[in-house]
Amino acid sequence: MECINVLLLGSTGSIGTQTLDIIRANPGKFRVTGITANSNVKLLAEQIKAFNPEFAIIADESKFSELKGLVSGTETELSCGYDEIITRCIDAQYDVLLNALVGFAGFVPTVKALQSGKKVALANKESLVVGGELLKSYTEDGIKNLIPVDSEHSAILQCLIGEEHNPIEKLLITASGGPFRTTPIEEMKNITVEKALKHPNWSMGAKITIDSATMMNKGLEIIEAYWLYNLPVENIEAVIHPQSIIHSMVTFRDGSTKAQMGYPDMKVPIQYALTWPDRIPLDTPRMDFSQLRELTFSEVDFGRFPCLKLALDSISDGGFAPAVLNAANEIAVHRFLNKDIPYIHIPVIVEKSLEAVQSSDQITVASLMDADSETRSFASSLKL
Ligand code: NAD
Ligand code: MG
Repeated sequence: MECINVLLLGSTGSIGTQTLDIIRANPGKFRVTGITANSNVKLLAEQIKAFNPEFAIIADESKFSELKGLVSGTETELSCGYDEIITRCIDAQYDVLLNALVGFAGFVPTVKALQSGKKVALANKESLVVGGELLKSYTEDGIKNLIPVDSEHSAILQCLIGEEHNPIEKLLITASGGPFRTTPIEEMKNITVEKALKHPNWSMGAKITIDSATMMNKGLEIIEAYWLYNLPVENIEAVIHPQSIIHSMVTFRDGSTKAQMGYPDMKVPIQYALTWPDRIPLDTPRMDFSQLRELTFSEVDFGRFPCLKLALDSISDGGFAPAVLNAANEIAVHRFLNKDIPYIHIPVIVEKSLEAVQSSDQITVASLMDADSETRSFASSLKL
């Protein structure tokens, strides 16, 4: 395998740092072309020293002089500002963009990289939620240029190897159910930020951890699967599987179901997205079936997880609805993390935003950006 040059957006986050762990463990197989961070200047500086990328960008311009001071004498070309990230996605020489930005900030970089004919390993699921239709139109042969990092979609991709001519009957997307799977509904009004940030199986960034608690994450993943795998939404089902061992399943027309398994470890799908369709060694715990006591499954309770229902409805509504859902959810999660609203108001903000923000414009990058900012200002000022 030739050396793969990686442009890594969001190198200081949960997916970003795990991506760098993989690269560190495989010198000669990967090279870091560029790294970017929002504001964590200290970690970005350490990463520059450790990986010696061609360039590094700090989005927060107020941190730029601190960055220059921390890595003075480096050969890495330093710059700042979000627009610089976009420019590099288009102009830089790299083999794959690993987009590990969180939220809508990841959308335009995905668009620009795909439009420039680059390959994208996509952790930023929000890109597909906001603009799935547009992104698909930029990808030649669909999946070849857009490879999912999300563990469920990676599981599906792995189940589909060798099945190119076999139609999918159903996708079963597993969900841990998060920390409130069994919390009595009447107690949900007392859920604190601290409790919501404790995910039972995965350690992730704050936004996706809250999305996992509300199960908005599973809703975003169903939208992601809808665009990646071209199936009617009725044929994509979420299944609660608290152990997070089976990462997702595919049923074919002869009734056969394939599953992909492993202990929860994002390094597996991150590395697979970088090397697909090849596999390279990874030092991660192997499944020990003698210790595995049970794998359990149950139906999703939509009454407990209204965000999931709103996400599914947004696909049926189409148009700007998924982009509005995404923006409203980002603001609602932010307000909850800042202790400005209770947990149970997250779906209320999303629902009211979907009612308030509508547009009949044609879907373009610009109109999606407008819908995003209109929704953000509505959801930020909404008093409940
Ligand atoms: P995180 O919050 O840990 O990291 C986000 C990264 O993006 C950071 O490096 C931050 O500096 C950067 N960033 C944030 N806002 C930015 C902005 N406006 N401009 C420029 N840079 C910005 O998030 P994460 O948990 O690593 O998640 C990243 C993406 O991967 C999300 O879309 C998430 O849904 C998806 N994902 C994460 C996991 C996981 O295990 N963490 C699993 C599956 C999918
Ligand atoms: Mg996932």
